[in-house]
Amino acid sequence: MEPLLLTKRERRKLASQYAELCLTCGTCAGGCPVTGVDGLDVRKAVRLAVLGMDQELIDSRFPWVCTLCGRCEHACPMKIDLLTLLRSARGMRARDKVPGVLHKGVEMCLKTGNNVGIPKDDFVFLLQDLGAELAEELPGFEVPIDKKGAKYLFTINSKEPFAEPEDMMFWWRILYAANESWTTTSENWEGVNWGLFTGDDNAMKEIVGRIVKNYKELGCEYLVLPE
Ligand code: SF4
Ligand code: SF4
Repeated sequence: MEPLLLTKRERRKLASQYAELCLTCGTCAGGCPVTGVDGLDVRKAVRLAVLGMDQELIDSRFPWVCTLCGRCEHACPMKIDLLTLLRSARGMRARDKVPGVLHKGVEMCLKTGNNVGIPKDDFVFLLQDLGAELAEELPGFEVPIDKKGAKYLFTINSKEPFAEPEDMMFWWRILYAANESWTTTSENWEGVNWGLFTGDDNAMKEIVGRIVKNYKELGCEYLVLPE
C-alpha cells in the first residue's frame, strides 16, 4: 500500500482509508523489539500519521528508536506499510536535527567517499601496509586495489580502516585460502550507506551509484557489502 506520510492533499484523500485499515490490534507493537523504549509503540506512530499529525511524528523519537527491522510490517494483518512510514518520517526531519553523527557521516561520504573522511592516499597506504604484514604469514599476499576483472568487488565498513584495521585481515585470510579473485577500490569504497538510516533518498542513491560505477568500470561479477 501507499506510504502514510503523504502530501497534505494526498493525505486528506487517504487518511480515512488508513484509519479504517488499522485495526489497532497491536500485532505490530507486540512483536517489535523496541516497544516501550522511549515510549515507542508503533501503533501511536500510525495514529499520528492517520490524524495528520505528521510534524509530531517527525519531531518524535519513534522513527529513530525503531531499528527498521520490519517485524511489525511483516506481522500486520492489514499489510500497512509501516517501514515506509517510519523511514520517511526520518527523511522529513530537518537535516541539522538528525540525531547523532548520522547526517554528518552522510555529508562526509558525499564529500570524500567514506563516512569518516579517510583520504585516498592514507587509505591506500594502510591497505598496502597491512597487506605487507599479512604477507609474512601468507606468502605472496597483497591487497588488490582497483583490480580490473576481479570476480568480487568488496566495499568496506569505514570503522575498520578507521578504528579496527586488523579486522580486515580476517576476511582477507579467507579470500586467500579460497584462492578467490577480488578487489576493493581506492575511492568510494564505503559499504555502509547512512543515507538509508537517515531517510535521505538522494544521498543514498548517489552513494549506491558510485559503488555501481566502480563495479561496472572494473568489470566485477559480484558485489559484496559488509553491512
Ligand atoms: S498490526 Fe497493523 S492493523 Fe494492527 S495495530 Fe498495527 S498497524 Fe494497525
Ligand atoms: S520496524 Fe521498527 S517499529 Fe517495526 S518492529 Fe522493527 S523496530 Fe519495531
